[in-house]
Amino acid sequence: MKDILEKYDLVVGLEIHVQLNTESKLFAADKNSFGDSPNSNVSPITLAHPGTLPKPNKSVISHAIKMGLAINCDIASYTTFDRKNYFYPDLPKGYQTTQDQHPICRGGYIDVKSGDSIKRVNFNRIHIEEDAGKSSHDAEHEGSLLDYNRAGTPLIEMVTEPEISSAEEAGNLLTEIRKIVRYINVGDGNMEQGSLRCDANISLKPKGSDQLGKRVEIKNMNSIRNVQRAINHEIERQSALLDAGKTVLQETRGFNDDTGATTGQRTKEEANDYRYFPCPDLLPIHVNESWVAQVKATLPKLPHEVLADLQDNYELSAYDAEIIADQKELSDYFYETTKLTKHYKRIANWMIGPIKSALNDSNIEIQDFVVKPTLLAEIIELVATDKVSFSMASTRLLPALIQSPDKSALEMAKQMELLQSDDQDELVKTIEAVIASMPDKAKAYKSGKKGLLGMFMGEVMKKTGGKANPKVANKLIAELLEK
Ligand code: ADP
Ligand code: MG
Repeated sequence: MKDILEKYDLVVGLEIHVQLNTESKLFAADKNSFGDSPNSNVSPITLAHPGTLPKPNKSVISHAIKMGLAINCDIASYTTFDRKNYFYPDLPKGYQTTQDQHPICRGGYIDVKSGDSIKRVNFNRIHIEEDAGKSSHDAEHEGSLLDYNRAGTPLIEMVTEPEISSAEEAGNLLTEIRKIVRYINVGDGNMEQGSLRCDANISLKPKGSDQLGKRVEIKNMNSIRNVQRAINHEIERQSALLDAGKTVLQETRGFNDDTGATTGQRTKEEANDYRYFPCPDLLPIHVNESWVAQVKATLPKLPHEVLADLQDNYELSAYDAEIIADQKELSDYFYETTKLTKHYKRIANWMIGPIKSALNDSNIEIQDFVVKPTLLAEIIELVATDKVSFSMASTRLLPALIQSPDKSALEMAKQMELLQSDDQDELVKTIEAVIASMPDKAKAYKSGKKGLLGMFMGEVMKKTGGKANPKVANKLIAELLEK
């Protein structure tokens, strides 16, 4: 692979389809929902009965504008719908309504990690289009089954410029898009369920050449890993062709999940045979500034902004910030907690350590976690003021509070007798007893074996049931041993 890339540049352009989570479909009032019983959301418009007319759903356009603003696109003030003609049994109209000449967004970019540096991937456009229905061909039924629930549901297609240069960049771009989709809440971004789909256009060119090579398009991959596998497979396949003096056939190829290989499906000519034309049933849409401003006002802080903010203003390491910024729900929880305690680093440690384990154990997400930011802040304060040790707080107090989240942390710590004792007289007595019970070790310590301090500490902790304040205990033991 490495020697291939010394000879050729990889060029990838991605076309990413994002299913939008609006209540209803793009041009009909039918419910836009996943998993309903087949053909239950199918009005005459969806089924393309003669004489029916489409009516644009304003919130679809707002969602597309929102994504456009999130990736720095120019939002069109004038946008139109076109027909893309082709026949397919799950496309009842015989054409797909999409946007060709005047898409809702132009330009835009996303910065992604590439090795040790940052690569800016530019976008050509984002357009709105409708999805097709779903055909299934299973062994159980004779013939094919058609479910039109998905027909006419809204998608945006995000088209990058051909400037992605590694499988790593492609993967990072898709990860970032999925994060943005979820942060700004325009879709669920679930690749396995097909609500985020990706076609990859892949070509090679002689290293340094400014002329693009012939590309293939790999359709409909359902995971980021598969997109990367397909790219790597094409690097091998195309370079072998080019090395042998052959040309790469411009075609659409499918990806085989089991073998990791791509196989030819249909050749695609340069010229479009879709015969696009403006849809006569749909008027052009004028998008004025106040509409754009309204949508802008609903944009939350974006994943890359949260990532920077957590490092610049909350003292988190890049590693911690990456984890917290990964999901909006996590960063919301973090920010909420910072309003109640200033121990930012501790909040991150709790979220990445004990809380994450607790979530994993019960297989839930942070938004469903019963220990809310107020309660976490109380726990953190108890630890920060040395009232409860971190180990007691994480292994005993937190699990108890998960069972009874209505209690305050202090109340629970008292009830469970987890409060570290401030009673120095009591502690001194315990330490003296421990030292007296091990005169040989005490002598050894005095004559220089300072490493024994830990052993005494362990004994004292055992005697106090872990409730002694470790800092105070440590200091007292050292003092009393020197006596
Ligand atoms: P089409 O209309 O055939 O889909 P586009 O020009 O809209 O073609 O490009 C589709 C995608 O293919 C874009 O993401 C673009 O970046 C990518 N692309 C175009 N040419 C190449 C190439 N030579 N190598 C890799 N990707 C390419
Ligand atoms: Mg295309």
